[in-house]
Amino acid sequence: MRKCSIQALDTVFETIAEAAVLYLPVDGDNGASYKKWEKGTVMSNALNTVRSPKDFFFPQSENLMEFRTSGKTIEVIDKREEKEDFVVFGVRACDVKSFDILDRVFLNEPCDSYYADRREHGTIVSMACTRPVETCFCQTFGIDASNPAGDLSCWKTETDVYFQANTEKGEKLLAAIAGVTEESDDTAVKAQQEKTREIMKKLPLADLTTEGFGAGKTAELFNAPEWKELSQSCLGCGTCTFVCPTCQCYDIKDFKTGKGVIRFRCWDSCMYSDFTKMAHGNPRLSQLERFRQRFMHKLVYYPENNDGVYSCVGCGRCLAKCPISMNIVKVMRTIGGKADE
Ligand code: SF4
Ligand code: SF4
Repeated sequence: MRKCSIQALDTVFETIAEAAVLYLPVDGDNGASYKKWEKGTVMSNALNTVRSPKDFFFPQSENLMEFRTSGKTIEVIDKREEKEDFVVFGVRACDVKSFDILDRVFLNEPCDSYYADRREHGTIVSMACTRPVETCFCQTFGIDASNPAGDLSCWKTETDVYFQANTEKGEKLLAAIAGVTEESDDTAVKAQQEKTREIMKKLPLADLTTEGFGAGKTAELFNAPEWKELSQSCLGCGTCTFVCPTCQCYDIKDFKTGKGVIRFRCWDSCMYSDFTKMAHGNPRLSQLERFRQRFMHKLVYYPENNDGVYSCVGCGRCLAKCPISMNIVKVMRTIGGKADE
């Protein structure tokens, strides 16, 4: 483990930015968001960014390819941008876990090479949480907010920042900042972890469990009468899916430019009425069906197909952002048999 003083963190950023594009969470009028580092950039102390860092690997929209026709021939031009190495600093434990969930979707055969390219070029530097809030429930999914994964893990105390490499990429980054850091033991980190774990135990969602969900629960839960009431007020706005670090639905469209056709991909939402619209019609005609799909996917279908791993990391973004205050916790408490009194 290595450390530097908080005052030396700017030099660490400068050193990292010499070899790769560095992104930091930065405070703004609408909360924290990731920005490219430049001299003077101040890292946010916010618990998390409003939008998750999934954009770095699965952007909201991207051009995939271009088609140009000449007579009877079609030229296909790969629009993939040459990717530079980049470092995403300050990713919380929940969001780090979301990359594993996205990997299982995009890196499985057939591998999504656009996503894979970005994963290859990106290095994740995580940051342990010290002030989890009432909307946090990462521990429900076995995530330890005080011990984040990532290529390089960080802990920030009042005086110092501690670094520990977990992967080859992390080792490389740690070696690059060796001149501005020094060897350290983990006493301060252990003390901070203890405090954070104590806070986690007292949070209002500390007792939330995945009991009642998981592989093999489709028959039991699919026709549960509770879906009707739960979904009744859903506006189908898709906000929950857009802020979610693990949602991965997308659409692919062709756009005529005048000189050819660009094929692009953009995020979509299973909460939208036209998401499953096909030539023959739409298999999910009601908001109840769409709403149920989102939560059944996260809590039953995904774990069924992914060794029991749930497709939620308890980041709490949907709890904070849904305009009607509906969220996965309410679904879990109601359908999982732990409805609020
Ligand atoms: S659950 Fe909330 S955020 Fe999600 S689509 Fe419905 S109204 Fe919008
Ligand atoms: S469902 Fe909600 S709490 Fe779970 S990962 Fe998505 S935004 Fe976070």
